[in-house]
Amino acid sequence: MISVKNLTKRYGALLAVDDISFDVGEGQIVGFLGPNGAGKSTTIRILTCYHPATSGQASIAGYDVFTQSVDVRRQIGYLPESAPLYPEMRVREYLQFRGKLHGMDRAQRDKAIQRVTDRCWLGEFVDRPIGQLSKGMRQRVGLADAMLHNPKVLILDEPTIGLDPTQIQEQRKLIRELGQSHTILFSSHTLGEVEKVCSHVLVIASGRILARGAPEKLRDSVSAGSRLIAEMRGPAEDIRRGVSSLGGVRKVGVESQDGWTRLSIEANEGSDVREPLFQLSSSKGWPLRELRREVASLEDFFVKITAEQRAAAGKG
Ligand code: ADP
Repeated sequence: MISVKNLTKRYGALLAVDDISFDVGEGQIVGFLGPNGAGKSTTIRILTCYHPATSGQASIAGYDVFTQSVDVRRQIGYLPESAPLYPEMRVREYLQFRGKLHGMDRAQRDKAIQRVTDRCWLGEFVDRPIGQLSKGMRQRVGLADAMLHNPKVLILDEPTIGLDPTQIQEQRKLIRELGQSHTILFSSHTLGEVEKVCSHVLVIASGRILARGAPEKLRDSVSAGSRLIAEMRGPAEDIRRGVSSLGGVRKVGVESQDGWTRLSIEANEGSDVREPLFQLSSSKGWPLRELRREVASLEDFFVKITAEQRAAAGKG
């Protein structure tokens, strides 16, 4: 539904988007994840026909973003990071105004407004002035506006930024629900966000796509290097030596406090050293008071690949 090939965007000497390629299939909810300045908004502005690219190709629902912008705009609903709304207008009035800009007649507008206010849970707020609404509600008005012309694809730029935790949860729920009938690409710099909402993730930093796949798949690649945390009572150096000699253990970090030794153990891929560790503690008589696997998050993955990229850039 969205196809991007070798897309590059320069702002003068700055390479904001560096030869990226990706596809978003029909019905997918894809998270475009990266830190500030990664190139997310630039890519989104190109896809929504607000910016030309320096080179490359992009299409939406088969329409070329550069040569068929009118058709592309018909296919997409775009929610910019801060939706431009008129605070003095009532929700319905604003949507009427926006509907007119789409060239809809009165009956079409009324029907469309009914549809989008239902879909975006705005029903009881439809006659309220926009200025009186919370930031979360205003984001929903922006979303309703983006959906007025019934697009197949929704492109959302940081749709939960600045919302409070309750509003964030509601907004996520809404995006998931809209994902049942739309293809969605949304950007975020918050990993928890993407993990909770999308079926696929594209990780972008410094204008490049560094990783892609299902959030669980990305998490698995972090888990390959995940750690075991253990706490034993006994002589720290003996414990360190004993644990280091267990099969599959790659690296052991040791910290001692009040007679307890806290271990941070990295094992080789596929090695589960929990049982040997327990056997070691019982055979040596070193009481074990904690043993847990540190669950890797997408956050860890993000930090790891960004660090790898920086290191590679440093070497190059
Ligand atoms: P993100 O949305 O991931 O935060 P952006 O796409 O906004 O990233 O920005 C990518 C890079 O391009 C940043 O270094 C930013 O400063 C730069 N940039 C963005 N817009 C412009 C512009 N209009 N002119 C010059 N540089 C820009």
